[in-house]
Amino acid sequence: MIPVVKPTITEEDKKAVLEVLDSGMLAQGKEVAEFEKRFAEYCGCRNAVAVNSGTAALHTALYAIGIREGDEVITSPFTFVASANAILMQNAKVVFADIKKDSFNIDPKEIEKKITDKTKAIVAVDLFGQMADYDAILNIAQKHGLKVVEDAAQAVGAEISGSRAGNVADIAGFSLYATKNLMCGEGGVVTTNNDEYAELCRRFRHHGQSEKTRYQYYDIGYNYRMTNIAAAIGLVQLGKIDEYNEKRQKNAEALSKGLADIPEVVVPAASPEAKHVFHQYTILVDPEKRDEIMNKIKEQGCGCAVFYPKPLHLHPHFGNMGYSEGDFPVSEETAKRCISLPVHPRLSEEDISKIIETVKEAVK
Ligand SMILES: *Cc1c(COP(=O)(O)O)cnc(C)c1O
Repeated sequence: MIPVVKPTITEEDKKAVLEVLDSGMLAQGKEVAEFEKRFAEYCGCRNAVAVNSGTAALHTALYAIGIREGDEVITSPFTFVASANAILMQNAKVVFADIKKDSFNIDPKEIEKKITDKTKAIVAVDLFGQMADYDAILNIAQKHGLKVVEDAAQAVGAEISGSRAGNVADIAGFSLYATKNLMCGEGGVVTTNNDEYAELCRRFRHHGQSEKTRYQYYDIGYNYRMTNIAAAIGLVQLGKIDEYNEKRQKNAEALSKGLADIPEVVVPAASPEAKHVFHQYTILVDPEKRDEIMNKIKEQGCGCAVFYPKPLHLHPHFGNMGYSEGDFPVSEETAKRCISLPVHPRLSEEDISKIIETVKEAVK
């Protein structure tokens, strides 16, 4: 079976972990500090604060920009649940705005319709590895005095109009979960050019203590610290992320070339000003036949998956905010039509040819 996702783990990753184990310093320390320094440099951003998941990164980011009970935060309903759950974790209200058909990302025009006097921020998600439309989003934010949080969980190394993920919004959250482009098992990072936000993030991940004055609690905090074990893997992966992303882009290009002339398949559109890092390679097919097509693909030994089968507004804990079927037609339609195919760096040329042939056969 060609797996739909698979991390790349080398001898170097293993050696880095063993060194940390031998050192006896397993929790947040030297490796985490080094990882933060190098991650910030990679994004071109002043500060990186490492945490232990992407969800923790988004929660921490929302805390740092001051999202509190009663605030409204606008985000996409077509994303992983953590983008929106992080808003609920600050007791704020999730307000959804529909996505654009071509990019799977939030539609700036829809954002504008949802702004009220309670709106404080926008969480824009860089879905599948392509950054959202930040030119338009930042314009809207400036006009209405809103903060912008970038959910860059799937987009490390991605760019839009020459700016890199982690360095466009007020603050950004990355995930280093095992299947993400840059991974360390479980982990996350917050990046920001605002030093005050960065200090609040460091406090929040460490029980509300400043890292300089222990046992002085300034506010509620969590244990969101990253381990040195995770950071050691992250450091090795960071050294290879450009190579891994380039492989993903090459694989995506080959898949799109192979599937371009099949009328039953819509291949992902890469916007010309975007450097897409293809966390997922997602095609659209006839919604009536989607599940049947997927079964056929799997029968031939090709992994595939639906990211995401049900938009967030149709899940009960968001539905009880008054949302129902029909509210976000583009997200709902996309959820019924999408299939993600393998695109990860461990695919061989034969794998790519097999995926193309299998999909061609399955959609007939
Ligand atoms: C993976 C992911 C998250 C959450 O990251 P975890 O590390 O799994 O907590 C948040 N948002 C998006 C878009 C993701 O893909």
